[in-house]
Amino acid sequence: MGTLIGSVLSADVFARYLRLKGHDVVFVSGSDEHGTPIEIEAIKRGVDFKALTDQYHSLITKLFDEFRISFDNYTRTHNPIHIKFCQEFFMKLYEKGYIFTKEVRQLYCPKCQRFLPDRFVEGTCPYCGYEKARGDQCDACGRVLDPTDLINPRCSICGSEPVVKSSKHWFFDLPKFSDRLKKWLESNPRLPANARHFSLKWLEEGLKPRAVTRDNKWGIPAPFPGAEDKTIYVWFEAVLGYVTATIEWAAKKGDQELWKDYWMDPETRSVYFIGKDNIPFHTIILPALLMAYDERLILPWNVSSTEYLTFEGQKFSKSRGVGVWLDQALEWFPPDYWRYYLIKIRPEKSDTNFSWTDFQQAVNNDLNNNLGNFIHRVLTFIYRYFDGIIPQPKDFDEKDEEMIHFLEEMPAGVGRLLEDEITLKQALEQVMTLSARGNAYLNLKAPWHTIKKDKELAGTTLYVSAQIVGCLSILLEPFIPDTAKKLREMINLKLEEYGKNVWDQAGSQLLKPGHKINKPTPLFEKIPDEKIKELKRITGGG
Ligand code: ZN
Ligand code: ZN
Repeated sequence: MGTLIGSVLSADVFARYLRLKGHDVVFVSGSDEHGTPIEIEAIKRGVDFKALTDQYHSLITKLFDEFRISFDNYTRTHNPIHIKFCQEFFMKLYEKGYIFTKEVRQLYCPKCQRFLPDRFVEGTCPYCGYEKARGDQCDACGRVLDPTDLINPRCSICGSEPVVKSSKHWFFDLPKFSDRLKKWLESNPRLPANARHFSLKWLEEGLKPRAVTRDNKWGIPAPFPGAEDKTIYVWFEAVLGYVTATIEWAAKKGDQELWKDYWMDPETRSVYFIGKDNIPFHTIILPALLMAYDERLILPWNVSSTEYLTFEGQKFSKSRGVGVWLDQALEWFPPDYWRYYLIKIRPEKSDTNFSWTDFQQAVNNDLNNNLGNFIHRVLTFIYRYFDGIIPQPKDFDEKDEEMIHFLEEMPAGVGRLLEDEITLKQALEQVMTLSARGNAYLNLKAPWHTIKKDKELAGTTLYVSAQIVGCLSILLEPFIPDTAKKLREMINLKLEEYGKNVWDQAGSQLLKPGHKINKPTPLFEKIPDEKIKELKRITGGG
């Protein structure tokens, strides 16, 4: 759940919005298949690396699809395009003089008879004292580490104490890019404060050359002469997956060079959605690599990072059976219930907490009572009293005018929150005020009374209300796309009839008098208390 809201779901909301605005969007990501966690798991389970990643990649791809993540390309890092590109990429850096070799002292497990890169070692963080810091990064303070930095190191596979041995490695001359990185960070006011401060602080402390090679067996073979038994460090190649996913996307479209129209056009805005632990790799490592390779490559335009999501006040933990996992989630509720709730509690400025009671209220109150009931009341009324035809309005009174004006302002207001500030949570809240206002308007106008003596007056109320429904069917699309689609089918609204920028038209009275709608059906179902009780028990949430 944390991964979903931190990266892919947030990015999906953003991408869907941009498409409705008529922007040219390429939305990519992929399975990061190399690296020590996978290697360790395969060793522990006694299975082949590739077989394990095949299994995960197909499962993840299926789940993202079921959560309606609208990728233009979802790739994987163990594919020929990525491997070839990364090898050529690092050879070019080597030829440009940005890569040098050095003998390093490295941790080695005598029992497992292997070097212990990155997460093959655990120990105490020298900066904050966290006892379960990994060899590549500390989860508690976020600092990027070297395995030999750890105090009391232990082998992650067998738990024994490693010894120090010498090994030759290839290093990326990161300090060479300090000045340019600083300039870029300082001249990029869009970057969120947490990402900017973290990165500038790292620069102040002084960047060190970082080893590009590892003694891992599973990974992309290092291309440097003499490095035949080494692989490229996963964090140096995984971030290049954004580029190779675009290359693969372009190749699938039959135009090998098309990726350059995006990656080498200064007008392109690349926006990254990540969890906060990935900040240094997107604001220091990736930009430095791009600068080193080719001046023309575009640097991140914005990086939207989220804080952590907890579960009923605890950390999600597969081993302790605490939390909800994506595959289970869809057995219980449709994707839109999850999407809605996760965006509502998106950890934008601070950590947030998943709570079942809160989830139930979000579905029952927000979706069912507020949104669902408003839409259902309006559409059934039109269906029953106006033969499913949008009535011709009479003159608007003050309340009608107020509602129409509120509606007109809505798309631009929500758009600003999405596009300029990337506050998806607030944007969703804003959209939901439409149906709340709509409900209040409907109660005030009480067409179920006026219809008895003045059908034209009731018709005006329903005309205005129908415009709110039409607007919702577009503004909800980035957040809860299945619902938005079902709603558009009910009201007979076809996106393709509105040209490229349908978003900006959403507030402009889309449903004309005489337009025919289909038979409405309820969009949501309430979640009973017993169900929540049961789920709390299953998921360790109480
Ligand atoms: Zn630490
Ligand atoms: Zn060991």
